[in-house]
Amino acid sequence: MPKIVIVGAGFGGIAAAIELRRHGFQNITILEKAPDLGGTWLFNTYPGAACDVPSHLYSYSFAQRRDWERLCPTQADILGYAHDVAREHGIDRLVVGDSPVASCTYDDATCRWTVTTATGVAHEADAVVLATGQLHQPATPRFPGAETFAGHSFHSAQWDHDYDLRGKRVAVVGTGASAVQFVPEVAAEAGRLTVFQRTGNWFLPRRNRRYPALLKALVKHVPPVQRMRRQFMFEYCESLTRAIRHPRTFGRLLGWRSAAFMRWQLRSDPELRRRVWPDYTFGCKRVLFSSYFLPALLRPNVDLVTDAITEVRPEGVVTADGRVHEVDCIIYGTGFKTNDFMFPMEITGAAGRSLRDAWSQGAHAHLGITVPGFPNMFLMYGPNTNTSGGSILVYLEAQAAYLRQALELRLRSGAAALDVRADVEARSDQELQARFRGTAWTRCDSWYRDDHGRIVANWPGYMREYLDATRVLDPADFSLVRRAPAPVAVGATGEEA
Ligand code: NAP
Repeated sequence: MPKIVIVGAGFGGIAAAIELRRHGFQNITILEKAPDLGGTWLFNTYPGAACDVPSHLYSYSFAQRRDWERLCPTQADILGYAHDVAREHGIDRLVVGDSPVASCTYDDATCRWTVTTATGVAHEADAVVLATGQLHQPATPRFPGAETFAGHSFHSAQWDHDYDLRGKRVAVVGTGASAVQFVPEVAAEAGRLTVFQRTGNWFLPRRNRRYPALLKALVKHVPPVQRMRRQFMFEYCESLTRAIRHPRTFGRLLGWRSAAFMRWQLRSDPELRRRVWPDYTFGCKRVLFSSYFLPALLRPNVDLVTDAITEVRPEGVVTADGRVHEVDCIIYGTGFKTNDFMFPMEITGAAGRSLRDAWSQGAHAHLGITVPGFPNMFLMYGPNTNTSGGSILVYLEAQAAYLRQALELRLRSGAAALDVRADVEARSDQELQARFRGTAWTRCDSWYRDDHGRIVANWPGYMREYLDATRVLDPADFSLVRRAPAPVAVGATGEEA
């Protein structure tokens, strides 16, 4: 039975382990840098943390629940769900916490991987699944003088719950999906809150109240209601992707909806509305779902600053207009090093080639899962598999089933390893990149792009297209790697032993 090491115990790693075990692959270890499973939902505990994708879709198709309390699950709900599913499928026992992986090295002779943790523990494996995702390394900007700041500071993904914000003068840098969730919470506690916005965002409503008792009962006791809700959410999310793919038509319609909502929310303050207004096409950056962020900016104790931050001084944040904003605490809601994927891990594939070199012109992988020259290495939530209008769990399940098929093919064929053909990967990458043409994603800068401007985070289409593309693995896409015959031992006399 092949030995499989999965790196990362978030939703991706859990999905891969469940799929593999269900199909008879029992020899699995999951190495996790955190003390426990949960991935991004373990780290992101900021006040107000929740998913803006409805729970009926932000859950595995094989582990549906009919007792969600509200449309979108809170961080605690999601982490609880991840634990429950892992336990139900016997996955929690496979997780080895506090095991940050430093390197994965492929051996051409044995066709095996050695996965080594930062603490020096080495795990041999026939296959390695890198389920580290795109959103696990906090990015904190290096503003000049940031280290001189006399107050307290932290990143939203490393929230300091011991720091009491009550009555404090707080700065929040960034207005992305995380910030719009915690700003209303911080505004209610802080004495004064200054929000530093670099770019405005498009908003759509999301109140996320508790389900009314009747709806809750219907979902719980009439199973088709829950199935219909999941299907409805799926189609709703696809319609968001349609708006992004067709910015002149569907995009304009949803953009109007968003504009009307934003105008209504800021009807009392046209000047503030002018300053938060996005200057790019609807859907280019992630559309934010919140009914509470813009009203929070209207509070008397909240200021929005749109001048660029030029430096940080011991007393606070300095902006391009020369103003010094004195604060006690800076919270960085500045996102993640998304283009780093699994780096700084050292990944060395066939013939000693490093993944860094293979990706020197930008990350790419066939269907976001396999990279030529890295046999029996599979990525979950790899390049071009993020979604701006959908549930990442739909993608993760598809990836898990795909890599399971690859490992079955390996067993069936008697090969030691599978390596995706370079021409297949290059063609699929070309086709994928071409599909961005004319879409809203190409119309601004965003974290979806790498330093060369290539969009490396997002899938350019619909969830259903990704499901279709990954449903059946085509053996012709792979080269079968055979193990080199073992060297014949030669005795001291020169005769074969
Ligand atoms: P983000 O979307 O990347 O937002 C980062 C924010 O910080 C942006 O407003 C950005 O401005 C700003 N920023 C970054 N560097 C800056 C600098 N040097 N100076 C000033 N401002 C700077 O990060 P995030 O909010 O943590 O969200 C990351 C992703 O996590 C999301 O896109 C989403 O996929 C996921 N997420 C999902 C949920 C959910 O409910 N499903 C919730 C939270 C997060 P610019 O826009 O100008 O770059």
